[in-house]
Amino acid sequence: MVSEKATRICFQTDKCIDSWPRSNFNSGVRSEDYFPAEADLAAAGAAQMDLHRRAALATRARFGREVFVRAVVEVSNFCRENCTYCGMRRDNRELHRFRARHEQLAELLIQHRPASVTDINIQAGEDPVAVREVVLPLIRTLRRETSLGVSVCLGTLSPELYGELQSAGASIYIIKFEVGDAAQYKKFEAPGTFAERLRHIRLLAETGWNVSSGFIAGLPGQTPGDLLKNFEVARSLPLHGCSVSPFIPGNETPLADGKPANPCWPLNSIAALRLMRPDWIIPAVSALNLMETDGYRHGLRAGANLVTMNLTPAEVRGDYVIYKRDRFIMTEERVLAAIEAEGLVPSDGGLADFYRRRRAHGVVAEAVSHGAN
Ligand code: SF4
Repeated sequence: MVSEKATRICFQTDKCIDSWPRSNFNSGVRSEDYFPAEADLAAAGAAQMDLHRRAALATRARFGREVFVRAVVEVSNFCRENCTYCGMRRDNRELHRFRARHEQLAELLIQHRPASVTDINIQAGEDPVAVREVVLPLIRTLRRETSLGVSVCLGTLSPELYGELQSAGASIYIIKFEVGDAAQYKKFEAPGTFAERLRHIRLLAETGWNVSSGFIAGLPGQTPGDLLKNFEVARSLPLHGCSVSPFIPGNETPLADGKPANPCWPLNSIAALRLMRPDWIIPAVSALNLMETDGYRHGLRAGANLVTMNLTPAEVRGDYVIYKRDRFIMTEERVLAAIEAEGLVPSDGGLADFYRRRRAHGVVAEAVSHGAN
């Protein structure tokens, strides 16, 4: 673990940015002692604008105007888990299930990916069969034929499968803790147990993965105090990044009649994560656009620095229903338009490469030991 010099961050004017350290990877810097208050997470009006402005300045100071551009391919909607907030839960018998063919995906990604894409995220329900039959061969082909960075988001798997994925060439594991409290984790039937999920996050980090996690904001019955627990958990984990997904009631789920998240909550959470960890990679998730028209752009304005365009083949995309069937698909055109509209630029360098260089500079993910275990 490298020792870390706290950086004093000035949020007064844009001019201050010029005097801040510009290197992206000279230390695992986080802002001095920032931890959100409930009032930050529920902020509206002028207080919210100020929170987002401070977060955006912290992002610019760390990453300049560059935003990482990743593509996602969704390779299987089979899932052995039963999360109440997700349309792909195993009890959803209405859903047509698919596993993509790795040859088709390889052809798509090698021959037809947009030039702005530097990294691929391979995502599926928790489906070890798809990991063996689709994901592993796809990663090996991508490694052989391209210089793309490879992320995976495949759920809680065995240490052996994690090892195989790593040997094949993936280096970033996305595994969300979803809910920052063991009792609520159980109530929403999130995968396995809360303790097991955190144990796997730590195991992945210990075995050399760059781990990104995430949580859902605005679940039914969630209070600002509950939301705050996610921050305790996030900072206790050895992460390189964290996402915030708004709760959107999913068709064919037990929460179908729930109220969608108050848009302020996920956006304020993005800003608060940025202020808590200026060095983290924080995505603007496409579901932000399901909660408000400009949600995705608003995410970038609140401190996000990663965007994802969807390259899942059109014929199966409609069955990948984490939220509702009426998905908001982030195409290349939409992603690039959002980046440009916010005065940002796509990063020439890839995310996996960024992490690799950061590690070469001695920066490893650090947890802060408070609270959650
Ligand atoms: S959130 Fe993930 S693990 Fe849970 S049911 Fe959906 S696909 Fe499966």
